[in-house]
Amino acid sequence: MIPYGRQEISEEDIEAVVSVLRSNFLTQGSVVPSFERSVAGFCGANHAVAVNSATSALHLSCLALGVGKGDIVWTAANTFVASANCALYCGASVDFVDIDLCDLNMSIAALESKLEIARKANKLPKLVIPVHFSGFSCDMAELSRLSEKFGFRVLEDASHAIGGSYRDKLIGSCVYSDAAVFSFHPVKIITSGEGGMVLTNSKDLYGTINLLRSHGVTRSRCDDSSDCNPWEYWQEELGFNYRMTDIQAALGLSQLSRIHGFISRRRDLVARYDQLLAELPINKPSIAHLSNSAWHLYPITIDPKNTDISRSKLYEHMQNSGVGVNVHYKPVYLHPFFKRLGFSRGLCPNAEFYYENTLSLPIFSSMTYAQQDHIVDSIKAVF
Ligand SMILES: *Cc1c(COP(=O)(O)O)cnc(C)c1O
Repeated sequence: MIPYGRQEISEEDIEAVVSVLRSNFLTQGSVVPSFERSVAGFCGANHAVAVNSATSALHLSCLALGVGKGDIVWTAANTFVASANCALYCGASVDFVDIDLCDLNMSIAALESKLEIARKANKLPKLVIPVHFSGFSCDMAELSRLSEKFGFRVLEDASHAIGGSYRDKLIGSCVYSDAAVFSFHPVKIITSGEGGMVLTNSKDLYGTINLLRSHGVTRSRCDDSSDCNPWEYWQEELGFNYRMTDIQAALGLSQLSRIHGFISRRRDLVARYDQLLAELPINKPSIAHLSNSAWHLYPITIDPKNTDISRSKLYEHMQNSGVGVNVHYKPVYLHPFFKRLGFSRGLCPNAEFYYENTLSLPIFSSMTYAQQDHIVDSIKAVF
């Protein structure tokens, strides 16, 4: 079975992990800070905090941005559940913005009209979480304009998007946002096994997230305290254990050194898909503004007006041909948990239409042309 995504591990990656295993520190050593500095430098952001998953990174970012009970957080309907759960962990409520069917990201027009309505009802969100779906950036300048007009903060869920860019800046530079989050799960662009990171240019956000990552505990308080014993530590806030291990960071750091190759291979595969699938009655990703996708996913859609082949028929045929196609995503609010919160069908018609008709084709840097040809032949066999 060809999976829809998978990691690419080199001998250097294995060596890097083994060398941490042979060292004195498996966690809280020097490799996590080194990974953080490298990702911050790569993206052009001032600060980075590595944690054990993007989900934890989103949670801590929401807390540091002051999200709590009584607050409202909005995210895109077409995303993984973690983009919404992070707000619920903080006691806030969530709502969803429909997508634009061209770039499959949060629609700026839908966001603006929803904001107008929310302002009249006095229910404006404190935070909006755009998701760079498939690695392609949302229109961040427009989002930033709306954040000033309506007074909300911006947290980028860039789980798909390390290595992608918006205008001439890499995603994660946080030029148009308060913070951005990456995931290092094995299907994402680079991996640390499990892992995530928050990027920010704010020293305050950095300080809070850093504190909350490890129990809200600090050792560096001696300057203003009389109980200043060398063994002392102080719990300042209610924090968590969301730390990344040095074993994971070593893998992440080693992978980061090959990110340009990973991205260019993905772009190469995308160009090849575009060309090989050109004649078929399917819609391929289209790019609306001056950005470069990291190409975490290659989602196609079947236009029910052009063909009577259904998505489920194509899905089944591909699975039977050994091709691990997948669907990204069921609109978050259609999951049973969210329905119990009161959400129902019809909230975001574009995201629902998209979900009914989409299929993500396999894409990962170690995919061979022979595998890609097999995938394309399998699709052609259906049509
Ligand atoms: C993968 C993913 C996450 C969660 O990442 P983890 O590192 O697995 O916690 C969050 N948001 C989106 C959009 C994702 O694709």
